[in-house]
Amino acid sequence: MQLTKRAAAVDRSPMTLGERIYIPAIAKGLKITLGHIFKKKATVSYPEEKRPFSPVFRGLHVLNRDEQGRENCTACGLCALACPAEAITMEAAERKKGEEHLYREEKYAAKYEINMLRCIFCGNCEEACPKDAIYMSETVMPSNYTRDYFIYKKQDMLITDEQLAKRNATGKG
Ligand code: SF4
Ligand code: SF4
Repeated sequence: MQLTKRAAAVDRSPMTLGERIYIPAIAKGLKITLGHIFKKKATVSYPEEKRPFSPVFRGLHVLNRDEQGRENCTACGLCALACPAEAITMEAAERKKGEEHLYREEKYAAKYEINMLRCIFCGNCEEACPKDAIYMSETVMPSNYTRDYFIYKKQDMLITDEQLAKRNATGKG
């Protein structure tokens, strides 16, 4: 009994001589292959060759610092609340006297982690942040064989001195 009307009738007639020697079928396959050899390739030789990013591409997270190099994050937790994947964890600490050059606000994230195996790169954390402390860069997540590698710590995400100097000089990045 047919469950749907999409069943196709199978041709069970004996194979012709041409079908039995397979040469016409091989020639037909080669014709298709040769036809594709000279067509423009849909693939690129990544990582040597890279496609341009979409303007809305969301890559790895960066923890921002201000133009004086102080961390923007105040460990308010809004990014963690906004994260649908519960990928963000942090521990807040009070800024001590003499640490004003390190942290912009009186409270800072002593520990900040993102589990990139949970992250769905939705951008909610970036949207929720009131301090412009987290943003998503154009860096593609590298692959790895171990799970621990994908727990990104604060130091893995903090904008580097070189990036900061470049941004201060060019106003970009
Ligand atoms: S991009 Fe989305 S899923 Fe990833 S950490 Fe931010 S809020 Fe969570
Ligand atoms: S990154 Fe932004 S939203 Fe998240 S804890 Fe820091 S200041 Fe708050």
